[in-house]
Amino acid sequence: MYLLVVEDERKVAGFLKQGLEEEGYEVDCAYDGEEALECLRARPYDLVILDLMLPRVDGLEVLRRFRGEMAGGTPVLVLTAKDSVEDVVKGLDSGADDYLTKPFAFEELLARVRALLRRREKERELRVEDLVLDLTARKAKRGDKEVELTAKEFALLEYLMRRSGEVLSREEIAEHVWGQDFDPLTNIVDVYINHLRKKIDQGAPKKLIHTVRGVGYSLHG
Ligand code: CA
Repeated sequence: MYLLVVEDERKVAGFLKQGLEEEGYEVDCAYDGEEALECLRARPYDLVILDLMLPRVDGLEVLRRFRGEMAGGTPVLVLTAKDSVEDVVKGLDSGADDYLTKPFAFEELLARVRALLRRREKERELRVEDLVLDLTARKAKRGDKEVELTAKEFALLEYLMRRSGEVLSREEIAEHVWGQDFDPLTNIVDVYINHLRKKIDQGAPKKLIHTVRGVGYSLHG
C-alpha cells in the first residue's frame, strides 16, 4: 500500500512516515500544496493524509483540484489543527473521506488509515455499460472478453471511466496520465486512444470511446 503524507512541518511528516513505514506501508512525503499536486499527478496512491494548513497551495485547494480536474478517487484523510466545525465541514464538502484534529494519537491515525483502506478494497471496480475495470487486479473486461492493458493504457482508461460522460481535452488527459513527462508536441494521447479503441471497442456492438471534434475525447455508453 502506497501512502502520501502532505505536511509542511517536517518533524511531524517525518514522524508519520516512520510510524507508517513500521506498519508496512510505503510512504512519500510532500511539504507543500504544490508538491502534493505533483506527487498526485505522478503516481497513484492508495491513501492520502493531507494537512489543511499548507504553504503555496492550501490543503482544501489541493483536495478540490484532486477530486475535480484530476478526478482522483483515492481516499483522503484530512488533518486539521483548528478544532473548528467549519474547517471540518469544508474538508468533507471538498471530498475528504475522514478527518483528524491535531494533536492526535498515532494509534488513532492508524485506525483511521486501516478503516479507509478497507473501505477502498470494497470499491474496487469501475463500470460503464459492459466495460469493467478491476482496480485491484488491474484488469479490464468488455463483456466476457478479458482485455490486456499496459500500465499507461490502464491509467488512461481509468481516467476516462472516472470522468465518464464528460468531454476531456487532450491537454487534460495528457496532464493527468503523463504528468510532467508529457511533451505537448507529440500526439501520444491520440496514439493511446487508438490502442484503447482496438482493445475495448473493436468488434463490440456499441462504441464507448467517442471523439469530440476540436476538443478531445469522451467515454460513455
Ligand atoms: Ca501545516
